Amino acid sequence: MASNPAYSISRRHFLASSGLVSTVGLIFPAALFAGTEVVSTPGLVQKARSEAANATIDVQRLRSNISVLMGAGGNIAVLPGSDGKLLVDSGLAGAKPKIADALAGISSDPIKHLINSHWHFDHTDGNEWLHSAGATILAHENTRKHLSESTRVEGWDFTFSAWPAGAIPSEVFTTDHTLKLNGHEIALKYYAPAHTDSDISIHFTDADVIHVADTFWNGYYPFIDYSTGGSIDGMIRATEANLSRITKSTIVIPGHGAVGDKSQLTFYRDLLVTTRNKVATLKKQGRTLDEIVAAKPTADWDEKWGAGFMSPRMFTGLVFEGV
Ligand SMILES: [Zn+2]
Repeated sequence: MASNPAYSISRRHFLASSGLVSTVGLIFPAALFAGTEVVSTPGLVQKARSEAANATIDVQRLRSNISVLMGAGGNIAVLPGSDGKLLVDSGLAGAKPKIADALAGISSDPIKHLINSHWHFDHTDGNEWLHSAGATILAHENTRKHLSESTRVEGWDFTFSAWPAGAIPSEVFTTDHTLKLNGHEIALKYYAPAHTDSDISIHFTDADVIHVADTFWNGYYPFIDYSTGGSIDGMIRATEANLSRITKSTIVIPGHGAVGDKSQLTFYRDLLVTTRNKVATLKKQGRTLDEIVAAKPTADWDEKWGAGFMSPRMFTGLVFEGV
């Protein structure tokens, strides 16, 4: 890819422009371009981490005793019970006091189990304190790999150091893994590379509640981490896989955004596919990223999906990179 001149040009713009516009719960790069001049907003990761202490945690009860905590990084699913609390994702570490309060408000069961939906910091920064509190950490093998070594995310212009020892998953799997906890069966399934190369779905099968990691951003253009294996085509494949496994009554927990359902996931799939096809067609015609952005391939959704969060230009750039 790097030998492609169009890619190289867009890549320089893409890297230098990475920045953060944030609510604490949503992490995304900002597209700050002025013509061909690049305006950089450094500090995306640092800013998210420093703002985490100000997070407001919203606790939403779903069904079958499953709740979701929203507002401190990625969405955190919680299943309490006699086997100890199970969490899906650990949020931002700076939000620890508020997350701890929210967890205590759900039940007095000790924290025993943590699953990471993928390796990104807004889903794993709380690993260390949750491990100290008693959680055994389970994840895909690539999550352990990325947390165990220095890992760069070009889209955030940030290189992460290895996570502390206690934060690293002690149990990993490759394709599928099933747990039985607190009266529930929980099926974990690896997506092929999608948003990263470490994404898994966490399906509370009898409750029919599924956490789909950052393959789904409900109401916001998604970030795609090409540095660790993500791609627009992988995102689309993961979304198709999600749709094939759920019904109208399934509750879908996205990595970011409101808890949704099959109709919202279908809308999102169509948005991804339509954007991909428009951008690919224009790129094949030799259009530059600037020209494609000017053609507004995402115009139908920008008002809602691109307002204040991941910008239309940034999302278009991420699609451009992968077609
Ligand atoms: Zn992510």
